[in-house]
Amino acid sequence: MTSDPRSIWLDSLARRAGFEDTQDFARAFELREYRLAQLYRAAAKELCESVDEITTLPKELRSAITSRGVRLSSIEPVTIQRSRDRHTTKGLFRCGDGKEVEAVLMEHRGDRTTICISSQAGCAFACAFCSTGQAGFGRNLSAVEIFDQARYFAREARAKGKRVTNVVFMGMGEPFHNYDAVMDAVALLNDPQGFGLGQRHITISTVGLVDRIDQFAEEGVQVNLAISLHAPNDTLRSSFMPVNRRYSLEELMAACERYVSRTHRKVFFEYVMLAGINDSDKCARELAALMRGNIYHVNLIPYNTTPDAPYTGSSDERIWDFAEILDKAGVPVTVRHNMGRDIAAACGQLRVETQAKAHT
Ligand code: SAH
Repeated sequence: MTSDPRSIWLDSLARRAGFEDTQDFARAFELREYRLAQLYRAAAKELCESVDEITTLPKELRSAITSRGVRLSSIEPVTIQRSRDRHTTKGLFRCGDGKEVEAVLMEHRGDRTTICISSQAGCAFACAFCSTGQAGFGRNLSAVEIFDQARYFAREARAKGKRVTNVVFMGMGEPFHNYDAVMDAVALLNDPQGFGLGQRHITISTVGLVDRIDQFAEEGVQVNLAISLHAPNDTLRSSFMPVNRRYSLEELMAACERYVSRTHRKVFFEYVMLAGINDSDKCARELAALMRGNIYHVNLIPYNTTPDAPYTGSSDERIWDFAEILDKAGVPVTVRHNMGRDIAAACGQLRVETQAKAHT
């Protein structure tokens, strides 16, 4: 990665405030280098919400900046919903141009706290079972719009005395379809001078864009890669994941093998369990055959029904039987624990249409 996270963040702040770039912004407020560093640190590390909170800046400077309409965050929370058990919080955020995206905070038992963030408003890949996929594509988010979702929930977590341990790109959108911004967002999340989250605690989930997997393998980062596989053969995969008509399973698996030999990192495969579609014993055996060697890990995802997709989830019993076949074949397998179903904050339930409800 080449981009410096601090300049990515400062340039975005300057542009949002109507300046050409950081220099232009710094000139307008006569800000020296250390002031710029204080601004970045306040947002990225100290997670300040507004300029007013930055007590390291003189009061006059704070009000000068605020009066010019400079906002520390590129997104504004519209609605925040908590699940009944209070372990899951879903946020709907509005970008500067009115586009809305969702992110989720999950407080697992134990010490794990995960933030799930969106990389695009909508999604262009139209997976038949996914709510976002059915809603269509809006636009790419900027690196800072992605980062600010994590910043918002890291602040929430901190207020409860918790530390964010993981960030996953499993919200709305296809991260590898917005590659550069996602890599910049990773740099922002990872910056030791800023947000400071270790790369191994970040996971990018992709529908399986082969060229981008190859590019990602060359980044020299320790970020985890997850592939949304969901089917063990081309006929089945193409029937509900249009992307498979562009990149066959063979091409996808070959890219994963190249990735593993280049990075020496495991690949995680997500497999959403759709009743009567991809959950047979035969599918499990086919999947096991695809997962050669000890370089892959399968994560079975209980399906969350969405109003706009004609699927139902496999029963728990079916999921565990399926898992057992994989396990017996020597494939590392886990079953994802479901969170936030009652507030439609679970996997694949994030959708732009919530806007309508949120506004009333
Ligand atoms: N575009 C990325 C991120 C998508 S969301 C990708 O395809 O990986 C993260 C995961 O949730 C993906 O594996 C996606 O297929 C899955 N998913 C989508 N809708 C779902 C639903 N209704 N229930 C469970 N998982 C779902």
